[in-house]
Amino acid sequence: MSFSADVKNELTQNISSACCYKAEAFGMLLYGRAFGITEISLMTESKEVAERYSSFIRDLTGITPTTDVTKAGNYKIYIPDRADRLKILNFFGYTGKELALRINLSNLEQTNDDCCSRAFLRGAFLVCGSITDPEKDYHIEFTVAKAKLCDDLVQIIGDMGLKCKKIIRNNSFVVYSKEAESVEDFIGSMGANNAFMEIVRTRAMKDIKNQINRRSNFEAANMSRSIEAGLKQVAVIEEILKKISLEDMTKDLSQLCTLRLENPDTSLDELGQMMTPPLSRSAISRRFKKLEKIAQELEAK
Ligand SMILES: [Zn+2]
Repeated sequence: MSFSADVKNELTQNISSACCYKAEAFGMLLYGRAFGITEISLMTESKEVAERYSSFIRDLTGITPTTDVTKAGNYKIYIPDRADRLKILNFFGYTGKELALRINLSNLEQTNDDCCSRAFLRGAFLVCGSITDPEKDYHIEFTVAKAKLCDDLVQIIGDMGLKCKKIIRNNSFVVYSKEAESVEDFIGSMGANNAFMEIVRTRAMKDIKNQINRRSNFEAANMSRSIEAGLKQVAVIEEILKKISLEDMTKDLSQLCTLRLENPDTSLDELGQMMTPPLSRSAISRRFKKLEKIAQELEAK
């Protein structure tokens, strides 16, 4: 499966809270193949995405969409009946007479943590987004058929503090980002935690390789010893995260895990300085011993 498909799959496992439910559904419908009185539909390769789209519509409006599977194995989900389409449009605050579709912001509750905007973005990404494998390149994009909807998406993304650019490609409007950090931010905001960790880790590894290539052999030998220690710690953390999540750990341990994953080559002293509150080298060392113990205990279970 492609990295993009993995990310989408992970996103469909996300459980939307009550306020975000409508927001995510709205993102999927508005940025799907069609959202208007003559057609409401989605085409997707992903069974999980198809099911999520259908169940949103069913749960929110009581209307059950029709699903066809094409010869190529793609899913087409649509609403055959005009009265049903109107009911769905009305539910999201549209009349079906709009000349140019815009985002109806009343479908997104304004909360402190932008939860509904993030859910909306997740919905849009599921139906019109893609992301490149971070091993190859950093690139995330949303392909939008309509200019105004593209502009509105750029606006919402900007309001959330994320960075993006826009181009026109093959008569479509593309919102994209090619900066590693903002690709991470997008993925993190949408709630794909595993993919987020994978991008962070890949980027850190690439940085290390570049550094090694730049330094002399002597320095590289010294460096590789501390990197080796760091990589072992990364491996321990990854083992733990297969079984439990960061939220299940004490605050200082989860902070240390995140910092180590982001900085596999940083010395214990420096890691200690990065902690809030800062910790000594020996305190950091004790915590890594503790993590090793946790990993062993989880292994034994
Ligand atoms: Zn919300």
